[in-house]
Amino acid sequence: MQKDVLISSILHNEVKPLKKSDLVGDALSYMDKNAISSVVITDENNAPIGIFTERDALKIVSNAIDCDTQLLEVMTKNVFCIDVDTYIHDAYVLMEQYEYRHLVVVNDKNEYMGVVTEGDFLRYMGFEDVADAKLVKDNMNKSILTVMPETSLIEVAKLMTQKKCDYAVVMSDTKPQSVIHERDITKFLSKRTEIDEASIEDVDQHHMYVIKKDASLKEASDMMQQHGVHQLIVVDTADVLVGLISRHDLLKAVHRSYFDYLYKTIEAKAQREKELIRHKEELERLANYDQLTKLPNRLFFQTYLKKSVARTIRNKQKVAVILFGLDRFKDINDSYGHSIGDEVLNIIKQRFLKRAREGDFLARLGGDEFGLILENINSIDDVSNILKEMLSAISATAELSNGVELHIEASAGVTLAPKDSMDVGELLQYADSALNDAKKSHKGYFSYYANEMTQKAQEKVAFENALRNSIKNGELELYYQPQVYIKTGKIISAEALIRWNHPTNGLVNPTVFIPISEESGIINAIGEWVIHEACRQGKIWEDAGYNLTIAVNVSANQLKYQNIPKIVQEAIYESGYSANKLEIELTESALMQREESVVEMLHLLRAKEIRLAIDDFGTGYSSLSYLKRFPIDILKIDKSFIDELPYNKDDAAITVAVIEMSKALGYQVLAEGVENEEQLAFLKEKGCTMYQGYIKSKPLPAKEFEALIRACLG
Ligand code: C2E
Ligand code: CA
Ligand code: CA
Repeated sequence: MQKDVLISSILHNEVKPLKKSDLVGDALSYMDKNAISSVVITDENNAPIGIFTERDALKIVSNAIDCDTQLLEVMTKNVFCIDVDTYIHDAYVLMEQYEYRHLVVVNDKNEYMGVVTEGDFLRYMGFEDVADAKLVKDNMNKSILTVMPETSLIEVAKLMTQKKCDYAVVMSDTKPQSVIHERDITKFLSKRTEIDEASIEDVDQHHMYVIKKDASLKEASDMMQQHGVHQLIVVDTADVLVGLISRHDLLKAVHRSYFDYLYKTIEAKAQREKELIRHKEELERLANYDQLTKLPNRLFFQTYLKKSVARTIRNKQKVAVILFGLDRFKDINDSYGHSIGDEVLNIIKQRFLKRAREGDFLARLGGDEFGLILENINSIDDVSNILKEMLSAISATAELSNGVELHIEASAGVTLAPKDSMDVGELLQYADSALNDAKKSHKGYFSYYANEMTQKAQEKVAFENALRNSIKNGELELYYQPQVYIKTGKIISAEALIRWNHPTNGLVNPTVFIPISEESGIINAIGEWVIHEACRQGKIWEDAGYNLTIAVNVSANQLKYQNIPKIVQEAIYESGYSANKLEIELTESALMQREESVVEMLHLLRAKEIRLAIDDFGTGYSSLSYLKRFPIDILKIDKSFIDELPYNKDDAAITVAVIEMSKALGYQVLAEGVENEEQLAFLKEKGCTMYQGYIKSKPLPAKEFEALIRACLG
């Protein structure tokens, strides 16, 4: 199926519109003659002012209205019109949403261009994407309007109007005998004036075409086409009437399967990634030993450490976890080659093992890193003594197979369980930072973790304090990154991205301080500042005549603890910025976290005309089916899908699917992180609405951003 075709290509315009002074009778015979189900009524400027459909005709029957009545009095006023350059799928979604049978199409001067019906959509969409597996019984209508042959025409028309049915099945005792359509009644009406006495038997009835409930939708469609009918009676294996399937049902199924296809593409990628990870894990599990030294590897080390910790806690003892790193090992590899490097590693291993006591556990963790677990330690002095001995043994000169004599040196980091932690991951992390400390400050020797920890904790407290004061000290600043409308190349909006001008560390990126601010609750104050600042700046630009939307980021944590609608309300009020120029960006995962309250909050924001964007779209696969519940304006495709466009097939398929889906659901779609022309050309071809990325500009301070817009304008 072609995906981005405009409605103009399936438009009917051979049928001319009528005028409001034309009579109902004229309209009915006109519809009958042209075999159409509606006529549009236009004014002297050819603008649609009303529509008269078969359903309106039914009302005429049921209300006994005269055929000499002017259309003005009976037509449906408020005609819903769509633009001639709407995409077909968008148009269909609209029609579905509002439960219309036709869409009236106008050009940009609001002049009547034609009508599109369900039949036109079905002919266009076709059955390519519908699997043969889709069955009539799963898509049919089970509640059927049945009438008896002697029922009066007025009564039938009333029932059809009430039940919103465009047909009724005429029964003979318990068996279906024929079908009567809206159109049959319209036709009857156009030929006769007296209908009060008429019953169904006076109307030409249609032969009933019957299909089995287990037939496929494709078969149903073929049958409808072959006989020129819009619905089929559905029977079970015993030929008992079980439902009715209409062209409307077919169309719905076709469209649904188009969406299924989009979802499947995206889910398939998620699945493949999961499998890849599982596969890798299995491979790792297969090998518990290091190939080169035949020592246990990191995985085994971790498993063993876990048991070790449990054991010593039971025995009220201590465990020491030690990481060793060789100094200058990379130099050895670089100057003598990898086989000498391998030889060195094996020599080290021998020296370790020579000093080890029974029950000590040695592993090669990777590269030049070894790990040692010492159980049943009585005092720290024991550990220090063992380490001193080991390190000096290692540093003895070694004679290698190539005749070179090498002086090797190792450093070590130590952490103790349960004193420092009882968690394997933490212990390894602490030992690692102790090792780094040893390498930095006393090469060839060892460090204990304890000091390191207090230092880190102090640094963290200092950082948090500085962050807490950043607002008051005026150290926070918003940078703005342009968002470009692809069709015109114009900058139409900006994403506000926060920066912290740290007094000593310089410019700090949000990826560093936003998580810390969230941990410590400072995010609330920062988030509030961001919204106020964006509105303040937005108002300045608005007054200067720049037509820009500004997007601000709101994190999952902010949603949890802050009253975002209230903050937004205050910021808009204080600044005087236009609410419909402010956009809130939320990630998919933030939406998913607290779905119910988020839906409510988003509707509150929407009621204030605030725009809503989903950020990093595609990284939280699960939310796709929920999308429709949120009042969204724009989807931002995550940078990770854009990075390898157009070469990565998966990413290309996903990007196209997201663009398509956005169009169909009536969202705008923006590609994030566009860095080169090839990516942009791909996005343009696929109909993506907007992009943002370094190819246009990095995020800029407000002054520079303004200069950029001015340069673009002039
Ligand atoms: P994000 O919302 O996904 O923002 C987009 C990030 O991508 C920005 O990084 C931007 O500078 C970067 N970027 C844009 N185009 C390109 C490109 O072409 N190439 C590359 N490599 N990168 C590009 P930044 O400014 O460092 O922000 C990082 C994240 O920090 C943001 O990700 C957002 O999650 C968070 N953040 C930023 N400002 C705020 C804020 O005011 N409030 C909250 N809660 N979070 C914020
Ligand atoms: Ca963002
Ligand atoms: Ca993003």
